[in-house]
Amino acid sequence: MKASVIGYPRIGKHRELKKALEGYWSGRLSIDDLASAGAAIRRENWLTQRDAGIDFIPSNDFSLYDQVLDTIALVGAVPDRFHWDGGTVDLDTYFAMARGAQREGLDVAAMEMTKWFDTNYHYLVPELHPGQRFSLSSRKPFEEFAEARELDITTRPALLGPVSFLLLAKSRVEGFDPLDLLDALLPVYQEVISDLAAQGAGWIQLDEPCFVQDRTDAERGALEHAYSVLATRRGSANLLVQTYFGPVLESFRTLVDLPVQGIGLDLVRGAENLGTLATEGFPADKALAAGLIDGRNIWAADLDAALDVLGRLSDVVPSDRLIVSSSCSLLHVPYDARLEHDLDLRLVEWLAFAEQKLDEIALLTAAVNRGPDAVADDLAARRRALDRRRHSEWVHRPGVEERAAVGRQDAARQMPYEQRREIQRVRLDLPAFPTTTIGSFPQTAEVRRNRNRLQKGEITQTEHDAFIAEEIRRTIALQEEMGIDVLVHGEFERSDMVEYFGERMEGFAFTRHGWVQSYGSRCIRPPIIFGDVFRPGPMTVKWSTFAQSLTDKPVKGMLTGPVTILNWSFVRDDQPREDTCRQIALAIRDEVGDLQEAGIRIIQVDEPALREGLPLRRRHWPDYLEWSVFCFRLATGVANPEVQIHTHMCYSEFDDIIEAIAALDADVLSIENSRSNLELLDTFRRFDYRQGIGPGVYDIHSPRVPSEEEMAHNLRAAGQVLSLDQLWVNPDCGLKTRRWAEVEPALRNMVEAARDLRAAAVVVSK
Ligand code: GLN
Ligand code: ZN
Repeated sequence: MKASVIGYPRIGKHRELKKALEGYWSGRLSIDDLASAGAAIRRENWLTQRDAGIDFIPSNDFSLYDQVLDTIALVGAVPDRFHWDGGTVDLDTYFAMARGAQREGLDVAAMEMTKWFDTNYHYLVPELHPGQRFSLSSRKPFEEFAEARELDITTRPALLGPVSFLLLAKSRVEGFDPLDLLDALLPVYQEVISDLAAQGAGWIQLDEPCFVQDRTDAERGALEHAYSVLATRRGSANLLVQTYFGPVLESFRTLVDLPVQGIGLDLVRGAENLGTLATEGFPADKALAAGLIDGRNIWAADLDAALDVLGRLSDVVPSDRLIVSSSCSLLHVPYDARLEHDLDLRLVEWLAFAEQKLDEIALLTAAVNRGPDAVADDLAARRRALDRRRHSEWVHRPGVEERAAVGRQDAARQMPYEQRREIQRVRLDLPAFPTTTIGSFPQTAEVRRNRNRLQKGEITQTEHDAFIAEEIRRTIALQEEMGIDVLVHGEFERSDMVEYFGERMEGFAFTRHGWVQSYGSRCIRPPIIFGDVFRPGPMTVKWSTFAQSLTDKPVKGMLTGPVTILNWSFVRDDQPREDTCRQIALAIRDEVGDLQEAGIRIIQVDEPALREGLPLRRRHWPDYLEWSVFCFRLATGVANPEVQIHTHMCYSEFDDIIEAIAALDADVLSIENSRSNLELLDTFRRFDYRQGIGPGVYDIHSPRVPSEEEMAHNLRAAGQVLSLDQLWVNPDCGLKTRRWAEVEPALRNMVEAARDLRAAAVVVSK
């Protein structure tokens, strides 16, 4: 049996690639500096995998920005606006597609970016049009293969498969299906495959992750067609068609009947694949890459369970055709848990980042090839660690699971929305079209410096707090002066909306080096939820009440919702996600209770990541939406009728989950709108949304200051489909990434736009 890895993290153990990229973009580093930083990372990745005992080591899994963008370059699908004149796609063009460009008469927008399946990684969406031409336009897969050869490593080049490439693509031409371009695309893939084979590649990996999603027969037909065409040019190379992120279900037959030499299946998220294999069997002429080590989470694997699965697989596939693999690319986990010197040692032994996962894969392989006795000590040590985790009193806290198990009855407000609305109307006494913001104000260099100095111990907590108090005082005064109706404190004390709460709850841990690529040079460090979650004490009451003490206008209490905290963390794997979410919801509920107790009249519970947690298969949506809506309601249901609950969502499509959004039963929803204006309004034409709603009147991702007229226009458009007395006026999202010089004039214009509307509404009602 052989050991395999599908892909490896590439940002560098110490984020060397991030530094090199940002250095190159700012002009501080040369193209050669960037190239050598990339080469050093690839070299280290390959050697690490080889030394760990991995047989099938990928190449071309490295990327300077994104693997889908690499594929766009490989097949020469550069959109016209980048004025690429053919030949090899140069680095300027490559980065212009990723980031947009403004230079020498060129002013082009970046390509659209969107989430890679249900991960927090973002890819660039191929833009294809009818009549699109393709040509081999990058040497990257060949160069990287040759580079690894220099180290005496024959890699398995990884490519995004042609069918998934087209399924992930978009076209601006209404009704055009990019899959129609398959026959135009395949010759380029044929060329890549035959050239790699000629170069000496024994195996080539073609990722077709789209086949873990719901697919039509026509799409499965395209897959069959594609691989029958590619098979003719493989020469001496074997082709592995790799899937990940779930079970292939009804696409199983099509996949295993493809004229290729290996099929890769995810047996972690796609545990159902095991049942399918048992009933359907597996063809005798193929190898099976069994994705047994979880590439999506950071927990040490239960190797006994994995060996058990291998035992069952060996009834279907003889071990010489069985490959032990990661369940997906290890791109989605950090490099090395051993770098975490500050983490509690109890936790470290339960973790497996990429390097630890290599050892797990190698150990499983050795247990099969040499017999479990040969690695008995190693297996036993891991078994003991897992046992400690199972029985840890640090993980299982008395009372927390019990409390989360009940609580169904708590998930409803005491009164229906219509009645709450009247009570709140009297208590809050807001004008028509109330103005507000989403929560954060600019996180200036000074705000960040102050936080860093506290972390380094250069200033005391008291000094830090005095600084925050001053920022809040200034921000409250400014909002009052501008005439905003519902104020916020500005979130200056928060580095990140999840981290801030995680640090104040039990059951969370934070790494120092646990970076995972989000897009390009951007990395995130997700918190690790390892144990039962509860709130030892108030988390936000101090700053919220301080801010409220400075003004008579309502100041919103500002909380991150349970579903967003869950979806932006590494979540424990020893209980269902929904159970963990319910524990977080109860902690947030405690905070809502304390805020209202302290006299806060409006509380916003942000859920920007609600949609991101949607399962890849439609049939699993209702269940997810049911428990996530329940958790939000559990968190907010404690609010008395006179307390107004707001929620906020952004940067995703809402149309198909609008029923669930309404079911959150928030009194007011602020929602991103200005980048997808028409779509959102269509939604409200179709769906009768009753509660208060603030469709964002301006895009906060751009530094430009929108005019009063522009915002009034957006509001009037919203007024066409929503009733005037439910409309709120607010930006799309928080203002933390903007500068004060942009925020101030923009908000002044926004307040004016609301005033215009009020004046016009009076005229209408006369
Ligand atoms: N309240 C948060 C802020 O304003 C919301 C951020 C978000 O939606 N991602 O920053
Ligand atoms: Zn937002």
